[in-house]
Amino acid sequence: MRSPLREKLDRRLLRPRALGSRLSKVAQLAATPAFSALRAALQAQRARIIAEAVAIQQIAAPTFEEAQRAAYVQARLSALPALDPNSLAVDDLHNVYACLRGSDSARPAVLVSAHTDTVFSRQTSLCVRQGDDVICGAGIGDNSLGVAALIATAELLARSQVRLPADIWFVANSREEGLGNLEGIRAVYARLSERLGCAIVIEGMALGHVYIGGIAVKRLRIACHTEGGHSWLHFGRPSAIHHLMRLGAQIAALHPPETPRTTYNIGVIEGGRSVNTIASEAALLLDLRSETREGLAALERSILNLIELNRTNGVRFEVTTVGERPAGSLPRDHPLAQLAQETLAYLGIPPILEHGSTDANALLAHGLPAVTIGITRGGNAHREDEFIEVAPIVDGIWQLILLIGAAAHLPEDSFSSFVRQNF
Ligand SMILES: [Zn+2]
Repeated sequence: MRSPLREKLDRRLLRPRALGSRLSKVAQLAATPAFSALRAALQAQRARIIAEAVAIQQIAAPTFEEAQRAAYVQARLSALPALDPNSLAVDDLHNVYACLRGSDSARPAVLVSAHTDTVFSRQTSLCVRQGDDVICGAGIGDNSLGVAALIATAELLARSQVRLPADIWFVANSREEGLGNLEGIRAVYARLSERLGCAIVIEGMALGHVYIGGIAVKRLRIACHTEGGHSWLHFGRPSAIHHLMRLGAQIAALHPPETPRTTYNIGVIEGGRSVNTIASEAALLLDLRSETREGLAALERSILNLIELNRTNGVRFEVTTVGERPAGSLPRDHPLAQLAQETLAYLGIPPILEHGSTDANALLAHGLPAVTIGITRGGNAHREDEFIEVAPIVDGIWQLILLIGAAAHLPEDSFSSFVRQNF
């Protein structure tokens, strides 16, 4: 996610519901001896968890190339005997699975996931600068810290006296970023959906934010083809680059509505062979987003109309959908959304409800109650100078553990009460 995660997650701030002053379920849980002991163990592991986030950051994991990072997570989880050895698995997409069995495996399970992939290529420097207050390095917050928090939580729960009623599935999934198109979490859902009651998605830098909804996203590759030729001999022939640039300028002049918030971005442009060749090929990648499906569809229609207007002899445009994320949201008074807010409130962090674009989109679109939460604050996500704050990390993981504990106790009817809403 982008910096501090909120940048990536095209925000729409929602006012959190007033939380009652009664002792929350979360506070009651935190006060039990088993959870108190777990909190102490977490504090004692602080330095190790931070070192593990850096160790994970050092393993390159571009989207579609998560195998090495997945192997690291698999090795760590398979060393925890309290996790069900039969549940340990890595699938074809490099999703890593492990289950901590609850006392009542018939109850709907809680999925806890963190994506392993990054937006960075293999060539990106993974140089990390570690100070007392801040750690800086490509992908450290998005999502190395999230993966380290997933492992730490699995380890702390597995080694604790805490006994939860529901199964907890820990999954480090692939393909969240860019053109991964949420394929990792979609495969996770396909594999586990029968057993799941709800999901908690971890993003390293979103502490304080509770994402309860996904925005609609569509990604198009627009390619332009022409005959091409020599820049001097064939001057006057159509150039794929010239025509694509003309189209790009028209797209960049569009003014999509602010309500529903609707955006576009030409994120990549490529093409041409040499400076003295009339380009026969050029293409751009276009990211379209909206708070509503209708808003997204209207923007896409405008783009397709522009392409029609640009069609001319000797110029061929080709449009391919390379990504699609559905919209869907959890009602703000859903028990899972309430618990996520209660947990932050218990820690003295004012919760901010938001809509964004995370792995939870794919789960919400299937009607699975899901929230995305963060572990610490940070910034410059998706840049090589990405950074995270060290101080909030323990509280961020404590939040995750308490939320898992509380979600595992949710009555079964809370899961069926979620009515899918596309907004
Ligand atoms: Zn992320």
